[in-house]
Amino acid sequence: MIRPQDLLCPKPEGLYCAPGDFYVDPVRPVPRAVVTHGHSDHARAGHGAVLATPETLDIMGERYGAGFAASTQAAAYGEAVARDDVEVTLVPAGHVLGSAQAVVRWKGLTMVVSGDYKRRRDPTCPAFEPVPCDVFISEATFGLPVFRHPDDREEIARLLRSVTQFPERSHIIGAYALGKAQRIIRLLREAGWDRTIHVHGALERLNALYARHGVDLGPLAPATTANKREFAGQIIIAPPSAMQDRWSRRFPDPVAAFASGWMQIRARARQRGVELPLVISDHADWDELTATVDELRPGELWITHGREEALARWAHLHDIPARALALVGYEDEEE
Ligand SMILES: [Zn+2]
Ligand SMILES: [Zn+2]
Repeated sequence: MIRPQDLLCPKPEGLYCAPGDFYVDPVRPVPRAVVTHGHSDHARAGHGAVLATPETLDIMGERYGAGFAASTQAAAYGEAVARDDVEVTLVPAGHVLGSAQAVVRWKGLTMVVSGDYKRRRDPTCPAFEPVPCDVFISEATFGLPVFRHPDDREEIARLLRSVTQFPERSHIIGAYALGKAQRIIRLLREAGWDRTIHVHGALERLNALYARHGVDLGPLAPATTANKREFAGQIIIAPPSAMQDRWSRRFPDPVAAFASGWMQIRARARQRGVELPLVISDHADWDELTATVDELRPGELWITHGREEALARWAHLHDIPARALALVGYEDEEE
C-alpha cells in the first residue's frame, strides 16, 4: 500500500519527493527543486534544476541574477510536467504574481503543497484554485482564530480618507517589495486614485517586472525631488526598512502607514511607529484556512509552518487527521 510519506516527506532541506527526486521550496541548495513562488524564504539561489512558473523564474532572475540555478524549466499553470514517475502540476495559489501550489501525483495518490496562499481576490494574480487531493499541505502563518483580515477595499478607503483629511501631509506606505507593493498600487487604482504614485528605488525593478507581466500600475515616479512641498497630499510606497531611516525625512510631516496582516496586532504597529496601520495580508486568515480545509476535505492535512497547533486541532475536531511538520526556514517576509 502506498503511503503519503513515500511520496513526500519532510527533511531539513524541505519537503522531499523521493520517487521524483526533487524538493519543494528547499531552504538549502539541492540538485532538483520545485519552487512555489518568489519570496526569498521559498525561492533561494544555488539549486541545480529549478521548476517554477515563468513569472516566478523571472522574479528569481531579477532578485538573484541570471545564474541563480544551473538550469530552469518553466511550467505554466495547469501544465503537467514529469519528474521521473511523478507528475507535477502548478496551479494558482493567489499569493503573489506567479505563485503556485505544487500538485504532486504518483500511483493514484495526489498531494498538494499549497506554498503560501490566500483565498480573496488579488488584482495582481489569478485566484487560488482548489484541487481535490488525498493530502493537503498548508501553511498556517495566521493560523489562530484571532486573525481575521478585513476587506482590503475598506483599508484602502481608510487610507484615502486620511489623505483627504491631511492635504498638507504626505502618506508613506510601508509595503514589501514583492507582491504587497504592487497589490496596494492596483487597489489604489481601483479605488480611483489616478495620480502619480511615488515609489522608493528598491521597488522599481519588481514594479517593472509586474508591468511586463501585464499588471497595469498606472503612473509611477521615483520619490525624489528638490522641493519637499511637492509631496504634500501625495502617496509614497516604500519597503518597510526605509520607513525609519533618513530616507523618509525628505517628506513633509509624513503619515507612516504600513500594509501587513500583522497590523491587526496594535502593539506591533506602535512598536514600528506606524500611525496608520493597514491590515492587508497576502496570507489566508483563520477563516480562509479553515474554509479551505473544509472545502477540500483531504484525507490528511499536513501543516508546514506558522501557528500549526490551532489549525491541527481544528482539523481533528472536524475528523480530518492533521500533522504539524514544523518545517524551519520559512520566515514570512512580513514578519
Ligand atoms: Zn510568500
Ligand atoms: Zn512564506
